[in-house]
Amino acid sequence: MTKFADLHIHTFYSDGTSSPQEVVDEAVKCGLSTISITDHDTIEAIEFTQAAARPLDLEVIAGIELSSEMEGKDIHVLGYFLNGVGSLLLEELFKIQQARISRIKEMIVKLKGEGISDIDFDEVGSLTKSKSVGRPHLATVLLKKGHVGSLNEAFTRYLGEDCSTYVGKFKQTTPEAIKLIKNSGGLAVLAHPVVTNRDELIPSFVAAGLDGIEVYYPRHSQTTVKYYEGLAQKHKLLMTGGSDAHGQAKKDTFIGKTRIPYELIEIMKARLTNT
Ligand code: AMP
Ligand code: ZN
Ligand code: FE
Ligand code: FE
Repeated sequence: MTKFADLHIHTFYSDGTSSPQEVVDEAVKCGLSTISITDHDTIEAIEFTQAAARPLDLEVIAGIELSSEMEGKDIHVLGYFLNGVGSLLLEELFKIQQARISRIKEMIVKLKGEGISDIDFDEVGSLTKSKSVGRPHLATVLLKKGHVGSLNEAFTRYLGEDCSTYVGKFKQTTPEAIKLIKNSGGLAVLAHPVVTNRDELIPSFVAAGLDGIEVYYPRHSQTTVKYYEGLAQKHKLLMTGGSDAHGQAKKDTFIGKTRIPYELIEIMKARLTNT
């Protein structure tokens, strides 16, 4: 019987709403044999998810979704099979998380300039179990306090990259994010290329050590999938995929919405041992 995997799942250790146990239960319920937790800029959920998965025979690949920036554009790089403990990775993640905290504080100050003065950092920060606080948490508080009518409106009016209250995260470039993953023993994969919309940079990412592209993704049409399969073949890249499930924080997707055959995981493992 073919086994299936979903390699892009968030927990409440970043901007998802599910606990590790809930993710594991849902993955088993929908028949997956393998998942990867890819929280934004934190690996805190991984050991809890692996512990919850062990009795249920669910494989959990240690993953991450690292933010990086090129010419002002936020570019997400997925890392798989990380060996993070005691490594440079934890040190770097600590710095990135501190930058996330300062940046949300700066955005709260800018919101004051727009007449929104009832947002407190602690309330925003309390929405994640880790230090990986982000715009979705600020959007949730803006919605709760009635400043916007939806999470999407929070992004179009205040938090989007084109808004005057937007503050960028930090200056880690995409090649640096790729190298951080590689130095942690992992495979680096460009997340949701259609959303990122910077395909012209892919050759430079390959030169920096990129291992794969997230070909299978809920928002990728059949044509898009074919296109990225071709691009992966051209650059000898892995093809990965996942749902980008965030629990209740993103209702247009869910665990198992995108699932890939286990053969692709075997190809990833083979690349890991050959590098
Ligand atoms: P941050 O990492 O703090 O810059 O926040 C980026 C995250 O915000 C992305 O990973 C998305 O999950 C979310 N996001 C970006 N744009 C929107 C939007 N228009 N509506 C809802 N969520 C969004
Ligand atoms: Zn997210
Ligand atoms: Fe992403
Ligand atoms: Fe994601």
